[in-house]
Amino acid sequence: MMVKFDEVMLAAPPNYSASEAVAIVNEIFGVGAANADSRTSECDQVFMLTDGDGEQIGVAKISNSAESTAMLDMEAAGVLHALDVDPTLPLLLPRLVPGSHESGPSARRAAHLANWVRLYDVAPGSNRSDSVGLSSFALSAWGETTARLAVGLRSFTNPGAVRSNPWDVQLTLASRPLVDSVQDAESRRVVTATFDRFEASVVPRWNRLRAQVIHTDLHLGNVLMDADGNITGIVDFGDMGFSAMVADLASVIDAARVGRGFDDSFTAGRLIVDGYQRITPLEPLELEVLTELVAARAAVGIAITAWREAIGSDTTTAATERWRTEATEWLSAVVDAGWERSGSWLSGAVVPRTTDEWIDRRNETVGAALEPLSYDMPIHVESASGVWITTVDGERLLDAYNNVPCVGHSHPRVATAIGRQARVLNTNMRYLHESTVELAERLVALSPPGLDSVLFVNSGSEANDLAWRLATNITGNTGALCTSFAYHGISDAIAPLSPEVIPSGNLPSHIETWHPTDTYRSLHTDSSQFDNALDRLGGRGHRPAIAILDGVLQSDGIYDLDPALVQHWVERTRSAGGLWIADEVQGGHGRTGDAMWSYERFGIEPDFITLGKPMGNGFPVAAVITRRDIAEAFRRDSIFFSTFGGNQLAAMAALAVLDVLRDEEVLPRVQQAGTALRAAITEASAGDDRIGDVRGIGLANAIEVVTSRATKHPDADMAGHLKNRLRHHGVLVGTTGRDRNILKVRPPLAFTTDHIASFVTAWTSSLADAPQPPR
Ligand code: PMP
Repeated sequence: MMVKFDEVMLAAPPNYSASEAVAIVNEIFGVGAANADSRTSECDQVFMLTDGDGEQIGVAKISNSAESTAMLDMEAAGVLHALDVDPTLPLLLPRLVPGSHESGPSARRAAHLANWVRLYDVAPGSNRSDSVGLSSFALSAWGETTARLAVGLRSFTNPGAVRSNPWDVQLTLASRPLVDSVQDAESRRVVTATFDRFEASVVPRWNRLRAQVIHTDLHLGNVLMDADGNITGIVDFGDMGFSAMVADLASVIDAARVGRGFDDSFTAGRLIVDGYQRITPLEPLELEVLTELVAARAAVGIAITAWREAIGSDTTTAATERWRTEATEWLSAVVDAGWERSGSWLSGAVVPRTTDEWIDRRNETVGAALEPLSYDMPIHVESASGVWITTVDGERLLDAYNNVPCVGHSHPRVATAIGRQARVLNTNMRYLHESTVELAERLVALSPPGLDSVLFVNSGSEANDLAWRLATNITGNTGALCTSFAYHGISDAIAPLSPEVIPSGNLPSHIETWHPTDTYRSLHTDSSQFDNALDRLGGRGHRPAIAILDGVLQSDGIYDLDPALVQHWVERTRSAGGLWIADEVQGGHGRTGDAMWSYERFGIEPDFITLGKPMGNGFPVAAVITRRDIAEAFRRDSIFFSTFGGNQLAAMAALAVLDVLRDEEVLPRVQQAGTALRAAITEASAGDDRIGDVRGIGLANAIEVVTSRATKHPDADMAGHLKNRLRHHGVLVGTTGRDRNILKVRPPLAFTTDHIASFVTAWTSSLADAPQPPR
């Protein structure tokens, strides 16, 4: 990067005595100053003016002789612009005193002077030498003011804004030649390392950072604060220029670092970032490079001060020495910790470690009861988009398993809805907010006419648990029926309705199960299974309060059912005094492609629709849709309130999902993709005796793995092998069914016909390299 330092920086600063300054100011502005007290300035001269009584009456800034009026006018125009956008910003405009002297719009000079002079009001507050002792509120407010200044300047343009100012962190590498002037070896090492890192990490990505005109140099000398640390004035826009927006924030964090220990500097930095993000959320890249920009500021400071001393334009002061020593120590700690690690202290990113380390730590703290990690080669996930998951090793996996990210991983509409709402408000349903009402109305509109009441909770388990309580409350009955290998949740009431996870098969006496139809083996096709279960329940003295059915039978093995049979089950339940729960946690939100809810294809009208998983595309939100009389009866006997249930964040996520399902016309696409996927898998498995059946509804699909097509005997081992081989070949599926021999192919609904080829390639390879059965 070839840069020429500004002439202003290279020209000697003006060198007027206090009495000369008084004379100049009085001549030009006629303010009657009696004394001028010099303040530090790199390239100019700044004087605090007092009158004969010692009252401060203004601040005079005598510019470097190399300064152009264009630059001075840009400064004034920028401040004027920012104040126009946000009049509460603590900014000062130069006083415009009409006079006979030569004048630009913002500065004056006497005919005999080479220097332009500006006069400012005295801002309240004072400069601090460090930020130590500032409260967390003050630090955060500092960040907030910085962001507000950037908003004020966001739309400001000026032909002079593109400049070569070495303090602007984008020109960090322009200071590289100055490293030779740095005397201390450790300083040289870390400054060089910082420049190297800047070159490798920041430069290639610089043009992706949001850019605008910024102040560029918000160090403590340019900020006035009151006793509480509130910013009362931002001064010296002399380095203003077009740069990355986040560079101002870096300059503030670099300033706050002064006087603090290493850890404390990052604590302060995080608080400043919090304040900044209260106004302007940072993009991931901005957070990623932030520590590198702070470090670059410190390194440039070391290099420039050393160089100025080397060329004799500055003398070495104890204060500069102290600043450099501290900056060096800080950079040494950053460099030695490693850039990724130190970067994470500001960005909040998880510190990178090896997958094995994380596995050990996971097992240590959460592994005792939790299901183990999936696959013999566990996936260490980093990010995901649509139907693709990316691992920390950069592997890209086709997700044919996850149904929660219903409209696709990280869908921008949902992510934005959640992010925006989180920044605005998130409380609970005891306060009125449009979002939950609108969501409830839209769910009711998607339900049969009688189902007009919605209760919001947080998980599928809770939805089913609540439906169960509503049902027992209104029916007075005590029994429940579910399919023989169902899963409906984890609560005390619902776990017994999840025989899938009760390997002992020991269900309480108030629960009965029935086998749904096994369409592959043509088993349980008539009504006797259900009728007998009802009889057994009655025999133990329980009338059913509910029967519950997952419309795609995800855990039982994914079967399509004869609508007449389901209608019979519903009728029998009702005539025994029970209510019907359509558990749409798996089959709902368009999974079947033919309708929003999977029960619809059976031609029944349930008493409860329970929703979960896909409802918030990953944000926890769930609901029970039911009849008014059922809900009202519950209110007579109980009080219902769920702290998180239906809060504004949840509602916004759920509304966004419904919007995307509509706008992207997801349902027809699901039908098309599902049909084509089954056809493609069937074709690719045609000659393979291990693949007994390929079936499904929409994007709820099953591949049944058997020892042979003749015996149809379930082969769980082979299903496990194939699942792991598919993962090896970059495709994620799961296993399901009582015998664990069924591959569950249940991708996000963002899965389209375009993804089938990838699936089939992996499938074919997996069939080829999974061990063949003995013949
Ligand atoms: N019902 C069905 C059909 C489910 O598949 C599940 C979860 N797998 C649940 C309910 C429970 O949902 P959650 O895990 O959100 O409690």
